[in-house]
Amino acid sequence: MLQCVLYDNKQDFASIQTRCPHLDLISTLTDHDNMPELPEVETVMRGLEPVMTGQQIAHAVVNRPDLRWPFPANMAARLTGARIDRLWRRSKYILADLDRGESLLIHLGMSGRMLISGDPLGNFVHDHPAAQKHDHVVFDISNGARVTFNDPRRFGAMDLIRTDQIDTHPLIRVLGPEPLSNGFHESYLIDKISHRKSPIKSVLLDQSVVAGLGNIYVCEVLFRAGISPLRQAAQISQKRIAGLIPIIRQVLTEAIQAGGSSLRDFRQTDGELGYFQHNFDVYGRQEKPCQTPDCNGIIKRVTQSGRSSFYCPKCQR
Ligand SMILES: [Zn+2]
Repeated sequence: MLQCVLYDNKQDFASIQTRCPHLDLISTLTDHDNMPELPEVETVMRGLEPVMTGQQIAHAVVNRPDLRWPFPANMAARLTGARIDRLWRRSKYILADLDRGESLLIHLGMSGRMLISGDPLGNFVHDHPAAQKHDHVVFDISNGARVTFNDPRRFGAMDLIRTDQIDTHPLIRVLGPEPLSNGFHESYLIDKISHRKSPIKSVLLDQSVVAGLGNIYVCEVLFRAGISPLRQAAQISQKRIAGLIPIIRQVLTEAIQAGGSSLRDFRQTDGELGYFQHNFDVYGRQEKPCQTPDCNGIIKRVTQSGRSSFYCPKCQR
């Protein structure tokens, strides 16, 4: 029996290793450029909330044994009949606390999408669409809505965790503070990165430093901060490091607002949640003029640790 249901502090790592022979992938579960980052996951979560919170999962269907890793044992049975008391987000994970003492963890991976059909709010009246290829998990909600997780590349993940042990889950316990929380503050960040010899870009992508930032938003943050992604973290003054905090919060908050305002109920008319058009200052703008007033620099694209960095060599130092 390869599957492990619950983890405890001592056994969680070993058990998930048993269940997930590719455990080394957890540490390299870093984002690719098209992978949803914190604002996209927050937008998906907010789109699910009005449909799922306080409702019962009348019927859960699990159409395959795994995504990135095997699903937990008896997942469909453990979800069917459970009431969702709370939906929340930690980093890029959506968590649904159930009335049975377990929480469902959802990771969208690279291509995972959440679709809602059969709108219970009356905004869209349509029948549930025919099942699509890659509809791996389907929840029929007691209010008549259907929530479908579709993931062609299967880099997504789901797990069931005891709610009182979420913090010790192997994917969660390695995470640094939430960037929008009070635990993310000046002295923390200075202490965490001012000795690091790596480029600031990779330090900010380190999920143990701050949770939920990915390639796109780190590029945007460094542009606003006027810091080159290539600069060694240890060379940056404490004042400039402290100045990253409000910029990170601002960039993420703006993106969350863009996600909310661009979609009705955080949802596109086809029922898909969360992915929204967003204009970036530097990301994807190589060879284009810098947006900073009076800077006539040209945005440059370089590869760092296998990922693209976009920056203005003139106003980012
Ligand atoms: Zn510039």
